Amino acid sequence: MDADVAVIGAGSTGSMALWQLARRGVPVIGFEQFGPGHDRGAAGGETRIFRTAYLEGAEYVPLLQEAYILWRELEQETGRRLLTLTGGLMIGDPQAQFMKNVLESIETFGLDHEILDEKAARSRYPQHRLLAGEVMVLDKMAGFLRPEYAVLTAAQRAEELGAVIHRHTRVQAIEPAVEHVRIRAEGKDYIVGKVVISAGPWTGKLLPGWEQWLRVQRLVMTWFATSNPQAFAPQNFPIFIRQTNNYDFSGFPTIEGCTLKVALNTGYGKVKDPDELDLRVPPEDLSKIKGAVHRFLPDLIPEPLRVNAYMDAYTSDGHSVVDKAPGLPNTVLLCGFSGHGFKMAPVMGQIAADLILDGKTSFSISHLSANRLTPV
Ligand SMILES: Cc1cc2nc3c(=O)[nH]c(=O)nc-3n(C[C@H](O)[C@H](O)[C@H](O)COP(=O)(O)OP(=O)(O)OC[C@H]3O[C@@H](n4cnc5c(N)ncnc54)[C@H](O)[C@@H]3O)c2cc1C
Repeated sequence: MDADVAVIGAGSTGSMALWQLARRGVPVIGFEQFGPGHDRGAAGGETRIFRTAYLEGAEYVPLLQEAYILWRELEQETGRRLLTLTGGLMIGDPQAQFMKNVLESIETFGLDHEILDEKAARSRYPQHRLLAGEVMVLDKMAGFLRPEYAVLTAAQRAEELGAVIHRHTRVQAIEPAVEHVRIRAEGKDYIVGKVVISAGPWTGKLLPGWEQWLRVQRLVMTWFATSNPQAFAPQNFPIFIRQTNNYDFSGFPTIEGCTLKVALNTGYGKVKDPDELDLRVPPEDLSKIKGAVHRFLPDLIPEPLRVNAYMDAYTSDGHSVVDKAPGLPNTVLLCGFSGHGFKMAPVMGQIAADLILDGKTSFSISHLSANRLTPV
């Protein structure tokens, strides 16, 4: 036996599963087709939003609160800074469904927040040009993560605790037997007791038939220069999500002091093959985000200085799958994080460890079951 558990894919969630399993003293090996912390999958692009007042549903709040604790623990164990709290602004019409969902999370769990009416919002955050009637909800437990660095950090910490990670090693097949699972990678066979699959956008390539449940979506990130860097420094400019007048976009403070990432939350088309992600972004594809920046962020220069394409796997309802893998004994599957999984990666790693070792978890994850899926 090569290990008690193997983790296939040491990206966002897989690196955290490796860390959590190694922390519990479990002999674990990981397989990563690139190097941990690479930017070719779902974890590239410098920053990720962390937030707690969750527009995707109040059922996520306990998961996010636990994720926050685990981010801080990973920082403590490694001495690295991964999460910066800036607060998070949800901006829009107070009657919009996403604002109602945010308020429901706040009310249900008593989350620390402020509601800024139009006048207060205009005076406190003049960086944003508001439409009449728009308000801001400030989520106090929100900020940004450093995704590539965080993945690398979790993978390295797992190794310090005894995990073995096979880098640049792509798994070709997973073959369950009665007492063990055989993994075929780069012409070599490995025998392990159990498997966590966390292959992100490649899940459909690794698991035949899964393309029907997961759509790989291309997302383009854009960085704009500002004429007023101080106004967009992390202490002055919370991360934000804004759904307004046909625009759904989000942004971050400046990290290096001259540009900030402002990007559409909506996809830029389906990726047929994650090995062939198209990194080219024609100018016409940028007109919408340029329009949003021009209209709503007057201190930014509305021509992006930096443009990059990434991808994530989406389910039809926008909720991930965190469950025992259907038809694959002794296997747990983490996938389909649908554009919002990074912030909760550590708790997903913890739940994967619970499920693979104990067959159950104390977290409420029925909304993430595999049997609810409908074709994409
Ligand atoms: C541009 C963009 C912006 C986003 N913004 C946010 C945000 O602000 N906040 C937020 O919370 N979430 C955000 N998300 C979503 C979040 O980043 C993803 O949901 C999350 O990273 C998915 O993690 P994963 O582990 O499923 O995939 P990944 O991180 O891609 O990990 C999968 C790993 O598996 C490896 N792999 C795949 N197949 C194999 C194989 N056969 N053998 C070996 N290795 C393999 C891959 O190389 C990869 O490293 C964003 C996503 C994108 C793309």
